[in-house]
Amino acid sequence: MLTLLQINDAFRINRPALSIKDVRQRVADGWAPEFGVIVLSRPSDGLLTEDDRDFIWNALGVPAFNHLVDEDGRVLARECDAHDGLHVEAPLPSVYRDRVISEACPCGRPGDRLMTDAII
Ligand SMILES: [Zn+2]
Repeated sequence: MLTLLQINDAFRINRPALSIKDVRQRVADGWAPEFGVIVLSRPSDGLLTEDDRDFIWNALGVPAFNHLVDEDGRVLARECDAHDGLHVEAPLPSVYRDRVISEACPCGRPGDRLMTDAII
């Protein structure tokens, strides 16, 4: 199980970060998070699908933020509030390289973004 917590700018822990498998298990257990959920995807998992996002929204009523992590849990790319791709923060596995664009994100942050299947 890959689990960690993200600390926001106010240094409050507010978003649990889980794999989609863990999210589905917690939903089955009656979990009701107050804030958006960060879903960690290893390259071998693939990124969140629209069905995954719909499941989280319909079951929990909170948005999902997808982060791509390597096998050691280091963040390679992370989704921002714009939900328009993942900001690339480290070299990506070759399987994702043809899905990277260099346009600025609607959030205003420049740099490369890894686009998801729903956006391509
Ligand atoms: Zn952004």
